[in-house]
Amino acid sequence: MARYVGPVCRQCRREGEKLFLKGNRCMTDKCSIVRRSYAPGLHGQNRKKVSEYGLQLREKQKLRRIYGLLEAQFENYFALADRKKGITGENLLQILESRLDNVVYRLGFGSSRREARQLVRHGHFLVNGRKVNIPSYLLKAGDTISLKENSLGLPRIKMLLEEIADKSVPEWLELDTNSWTGRVKALPLREQIDIPVQEHLIVELYSR
Ligand code: SF4
Repeated sequence: MARYVGPVCRQCRREGEKLFLKGNRCMTDKCSIVRRSYAPGLHGQNRKKVSEYGLQLREKQKLRRIYGLLEAQFENYFALADRKKGITGENLLQILESRLDNVVYRLGFGSSRREARQLVRHGHFLVNGRKVNIPSYLLKAGDTISLKENSLGLPRIKMLLEEIADKSVPEWLELDTNSWTGRVKALPLREQIDIPVQEHLIVELYSR
């Protein structure tokens, strides 16, 4: 699956806020938003009046970048959310949260969604006991995610597992640190998703 391969921090600078795309680095003063808190490019420091369309577009781009999706993938998720019963914006966030790479990140098996995606791609995880290496795989309530036994000894995975002790998992997930197995207790409600977006603006954008 295609993915964005350009400069990562540039995406945060474009959105004017930290999107936490690079794991631990985002917490340090090496973060580009700390060093240069203006948009990239020649006119990045110019102040502009933002139109209603501009606001809606920025909100959509922010959400797309947080989950590391290209435009076409994002549009497919929106269409799926629109077809589901309920509030489209909330459906969209719920679908994005249920991606395997996101759940791996939320469980702490990756320091960022990008790293989680790479670990999934490299086949380190089992879903309900079967190897799944598709980052976009959508999980359901009751699904389990575990690390493959022969991945447990890899240096980077060992380091990540040591760091998990300091982290907490969202309430819609649970993690057994003896077997390194996570479980989706239920798909998340909007109030359980700590993503700083106004999803109604995205719905308005696609309703134009
Ligand atoms: Fe964004 Fe992290 Fe880069 Fe800071 S370090 S600009 S939060 S990706």
